[in-house]
Order: sequence, then C-alpha cells, then structure tokens
Amino acid sequence: MVHDSYQRPLRDLRISVTDRCNFRCTYCMPEEIFGKDYPFLPREEILSFEEIERTVQLMVPLGVKKIRISGGEPLLRKELPTLIHSINQIKGIEDIALTTNGILLKKFSEELKAAGLQRVNVSLDTLDDHVFHQLNSRKHSVTDVLEGIEAASSAGLQVKVNMVVQKGVNDQDILPMARYFRETDHILRFIEFMDVGNYNQWNLEKVVSKKEMVDIIHHDMALEPAERNYFGEVASRFTYEGTDKEIGIISSVTDTFCGSCTRARLSANGQLYTCLFASKGHDLREYLRSGATDEEIQDKLAAIWNARTDRYSEERGGESRTGRTDRKKIEMSYIGG
Ligand code: SAM
Ligand code: SF4
Ligand code: SF4
Repeated sequence: MVHDSYQRPLRDLRISVTDRCNFRCTYCMPEEIFGKDYPFLPREEILSFEEIERTVQLMVPLGVKKIRISGGEPLLRKELPTLIHSINQIKGIEDIALTTNGILLKKFSEELKAAGLQRVNVSLDTLDDHVFHQLNSRKHSVTDVLEGIEAASSAGLQVKVNMVVQKGVNDQDILPMARYFRETDHILRFIEFMDVGNYNQWNLEKVVSKKEMVDIIHHDMALEPAERNYFGEVASRFTYEGTDKEIGIISSVTDTFCGSCTRARLSANGQLYTCLFASKGHDLREYLRSGATDEEIQDKLAAIWNARTDRYSEERGGESRTGRTDRKKIEMSYIGG
C-alpha cells in the first residue's frame, strides 16, 4: 500500500476510455470548442485494453480496490464490456462502476451486467427537454436517458443519478428531480458546478452551494443528515425524514474533501493524474510501451503517489471567484470526472 505526502492512501482508479462524446454539455465540452475540427485523440495514442488491464494489475498491490470507467462517453468505446470483464477478473478489485450519459444503456446494459459491472452513475441535469437541449444535447431527449436508467435497473445494475447544478440554468430543476427520484430506487446526487477544464466560463456566482441545495429540498421534503458510508466517500448523504430514501450532495467547491481523496485518474492516452485539477499528468503510456518491466512500472507508480501533494479544492478556497487562472487545467472529457 502506498500513501501520499499527506498520508492519503491510493484506493480508486478512474479510467477514461475515450475523449469523445455524443453530447456537448456546456459545462464540459461546449460545442464552440469541441466542434468538428477539434483534435480528438488518434486511435494509436489511446491505451489498448491490454495496457489498461496491465496498469490496473500493477496498481492493485499499491492499494487500488475500486475502478470507475468514464470518458468522454465510455459507452462509445468499442467492446467496452470486454474490458469490464477482464478488470473484473483481477484479484483485489472489489468494485467496478461506470459513469455515463445514459443514452447507450438501452443497448448495452445486459451485456455490461453479464461482464461483471455492478453499478452505473447516470448523468441527468433536468427533466425538462428544453433545458436538456440547451445544456446537454440537441439530438436526444430526457426520455432517452430515463429509458436508459430503466434498462440498467432492469438488467440488475445499481443506478445513481448525477445532476450538475448551475444557478440560473437548471437550479429550478432541483425540486422536480428530487421529487421524481424519491419515488424510484435510484439515489440522486447533486453536484456543485466545478471549475474543471478551461472553457466552461465557471465563476462562483454560477455555483449553487450544498447549503442552498439542502435548504431548497428540506423546505419541501424534510431531510436528515446520514453518516458517510466509508472513508473517502465524496457525497454528503441525507435521507428524507422517516424513510430510507437517500440523496447525496457533492460539494467540491463550498465544502471540500481533499483530505480524504484517494483517487488517481488515467486518461484515455495513458497519462496518470493525481488530481482532477492537475495541469500535467505522468506519461504512463510511454512506460507501458517502452518495454519496462512490471516492477519498474510499479516503482514509478508508487513514486508518483508518494510524491503527491494535490489539494486543489482546498487551496482554491474563497481566494478567487473565477477559479484559479494561474494554471491550464485538463479537460473533464479527457480525464473522466
Ligand atoms: N459522459 C459521461 C457522463 O456525462 O456521465 C462520463 C464523463 S463526465 C466528464 C463525468 C461526470 O462529470 C458527469 O457526471 C458530469 O456531469 C460531470 N461534470 C462534467 N463537467 C462538470 C463540471 N464542470 N462541474 C461538475 N461536474 C461536471
Ligand atoms: Fe459528454 Fe459527459 Fe462531458 Fe456531457 S459531461 S459532454 S456527456 S463527457
Ligand atoms: Fe482530490 Fe484534487 Fe478533488 Fe482535492 S481537488 S478532492 S485532491 S481530485
């Protein structure tokens, strides 16, 4: 097991399997930037399934137990269930989850479940098609995502729903979303809008804080705080009073959690990042393709984690209303969220 310079262990690996997406969410891949001329990664630069599996194998003895597959839109990666199946065979991996916009779940849920996937997080920011078309995708509708959620659930996958909340954009949807998902078995998690990437025009005025979200919901349906499930859980949990129905709030802006951050991130082209807001990764792909032995690669991985000092959200604090502009950040679609 390795620990970083603040004694945080390495537990989770988030793997982005593609930088491409079939949505153009304004807060992640705004259409003006990610248009048809955008230089997406060429095939040969993207890690193969074998390279990803080897990386996971080598990270398990260092402490990795949980894997999250993300992107871009991970279900655009060909044969994704094959990768999930192989990762599921790796001894020491206790949990595999997938984050998706949900559009392709109707097609792939059964296969994903058969491959050993346990959980999916589906991103859905509104139940209103008009807002959905402006914020996420013009080609699809809310119903497509809801059908994806139901397909995943019917296939036996546990589903959580993630809603990124922006003031003046979809904060009016907080209550309708809460009411809708309270009647289902799916936990809804509200995510504070973050200053990831370089193009989403983030500023603090657009953030609806955890406190504001709790107040809005509590005013309508009484909430009570619930204990964290485990060290490093990112969401603060609440239950609706007198029920076991739950919501979560991920407050990486107004109530940060760097102190328990155990997550490493692998981009589609094999760069390893020790923070969502990092400007630079460590080039693992070059190592994987250089003929280095397992031992050499593992030593490098351990050294990277040992040297880790990241605590961006804590440092950001209240210091800037426009996020830290002193560094160029990695795009969310590239690092996987
Ligand atoms: N395409 C998949 C999806 O949307 O679920 C997976 C990749 S996406 C980058 C992962 C998560 O990051 C999604 O839940 C998305 O809503 C969230 N996200 C993207 N940009 C964000 C931002 N600026 N602030 C907060 N969350 C963001
Ligand atoms: Fe695509 Fe997900 Fe980013 Fe939306 S949040 S553009 S669905 S990668
Ligand atoms: Fe972890 Fe970086 Fe996010 Fe802090 S800002 S919780 S260190 S990813």
